Amino acid sequence: MQTIDNFNFAGQKAFVRVDFNVPLDEKFNITDDTRIRAAIPTLKKILADGGSAIIGSHLGRPKGVDGKYSLQHILQRVSELLGVKVDFASDCLGESAVEKAAVLKPGQALLLENLRFYAAEEGKPRLSDDASDEEKAAAKKAEKANQKEMAKQLASYVTVYVNDAFGTAHRAHASTAIMADYFDAEHKLFGYLMQNEIDAVEKVLKDTAHPFTAIMGGSKVSSKIEIIENLLTKVDNLIIAGGMTYTFTKAMGGKIGNSICEDDKLDLALSLIQKAKDNNVNLVLAIDAKAADSFSNDANTQFVPVGEIPDGWEGLDIGPETEKLFAEVIENSKTILWNGPTGVFEFDNFAGGSSAVGRAIVNATEKGAFSLVGGGDSVACVNKFGIADKMSYVSTGGGALLEFIEGKELPGIKAIRGY
Ligand code: AMP
Repeated sequence: MQTIDNFNFAGQKAFVRVDFNVPLDEKFNITDDTRIRAAIPTLKKILADGGSAIIGSHLGRPKGVDGKYSLQHILQRVSELLGVKVDFASDCLGESAVEKAAVLKPGQALLLENLRFYAAEEGKPRLSDDASDEEKAAAKKAEKANQKEMAKQLASYVTVYVNDAFGTAHRAHASTAIMADYFDAEHKLFGYLMQNEIDAVEKVLKDTAHPFTAIMGGSKVSSKIEIIENLLTKVDNLIIAGGMTYTFTKAMGGKIGNSICEDDKLDLALSLIQKAKDNNVNLVLAIDAKAADSFSNDANTQFVPVGEIPDGWEGLDIGPETEKLFAEVIENSKTILWNGPTGVFEFDNFAGGSSAVGRAIVNATEKGAFSLVGGGDSVACVNKFGIADKMSYVSTGGGALLEFIEGKELPGIKAIRGY
């Protein structure tokens, strides 16, 4: 397989699929440019080698051409961060793109308009709900054909395909997977970000140093079932935290007051407890909670055993005994995966547990453990506590990371390395 470090881009034109799906405010200012920064090393390497880069991305979920989702909004920031004035093609497939791609010189970069302005990018027809089943089936078939055509045209602009969009690696879209078919094995490769993400997950799941501890937090067990099931075949310790604690507590006969709970998942919680036993996994559940008398930062609070939450109160974070328990397990680990906060960390008064978990991971990492943090809110957590740079790796992927940890094949990865 070709790698970005080994590939000399001199004289080559590269299509670089990035994930520039950044948040914008109502005046279209970028509020967090992390995703743009993450792709800069790949783009710089291509230009420094004497190659040129055609940059493709999606932004938001447009239903067609829509100025609100134009990549024009981010053009200037891309130029600033890359240190090169980046040109813009106002359409990713039309004449503007074809002409601008054709005249691109070594050292130059071109940003294409939002790939998702075309339904063909996703390969899914955009039909109204009242379309008949036949119409839907015919449109689906047509859109798959359009997707191939789109992939073929994007591929025709360049000599090499680079995928650096980990955030969309779980999607089989024209630019994230299908277009790789138009390049031989020597001319398709991962960018640095994608490679780093894959290396980090594989270090945790395949090349694991033990003890391996996963901390699964967040609100609901239902959104994490597949990950928990896959982790139960790999980890030594599984810490369950956050709102999903109370589904487990109730399933075991505890009193949870008004705490968040999925009543239809009580049997599932019991079967996960049994599975942990069968697999010799040390399942670590909270023992005390910081309970609140309302869902608010200013609520009255008390620390109570996790299965004795009074009526009218709800557990919004772990208590001090649990902080100690979790920290001890974490600090004795060699591999750590953290997904999801231990409580409602958005409220400062209920961020203490997540902060304690973060500190324990920092301590373990300083002692040589490998720590991977990822999946939405845990990244927000480490940023809030200013400890992101103390983790071994903070993933940029949300859904893609979660599917990767679930053990699924990601189309964007498979399209390049074959598995
Ligand atoms: P998720 O997206 O599933 O990782 O869930 C993250 C969300 O879970 C955050 O917005 C937290 O505020 C929320 N959360 C964590 N613990 C609790 C809890 N004990 N009660 C209610 N929500 C919680």
